[in-house]
Amino acid sequence: MMGASRQLWALTVRQPWAWALAWGGKNIENRSWTTSYRGWIAIHAGKTLVDDVGRAQQFIQERMGWRWRPHHARQSVRARGQVLALARLDAVCAGPVEGCACPMDSAWATVGAFHWRFGAWQHLRRPVATAGGLGLWNLPQAAADAVLAQLDEHAVHAVIAHG
Ligand SMILES: [Zn+2]
Repeated sequence: MMGASRQLWALTVRQPWAWALAWGGKNIENRSWTTSYRGWIAIHAGKTLVDDVGRAQQFIQERMGWRWRPHHARQSVRARGQVLALARLDAVCAGPVEGCACPMDSAWATVGAFHWRFGAWQHLRRPVATAGGLGLWNLPQAAADAVLAQLDEHAVHAVIAHG
């Protein structure tokens, strides 16, 4: 499959949240806005960090529990301006509008946010550098190709099926 069918949606997330979403087991992204899109999204680490890195890392560390290691503090802010992984968006709750009916099986959800619930991941061995975007944005074709080149054939078909 070529051309438009190889496009990938992307979401820019500031570090260390992008790392937590890609590698830390964070299965909920808290957003002030919602989307009707369901399917795979490239998790892109923004160029800038969150304002309070230490506090964010503390939050992540508490939720990761024993899986958090000392080197994760450094790792969680290292990648910037890069796609780290693909994650499959399965559901978004209407929390701020209708009240949250999510099964609260994740400690990652924060009150008053739309909970973007991810259910599957494809990790990239080599992060792909590209500029970020606002909202859900399409990866430039070269970046999308560099991401897809790292996946096996089955994964490629899965991630572009919803495109
Ligand atoms: Zn919710």
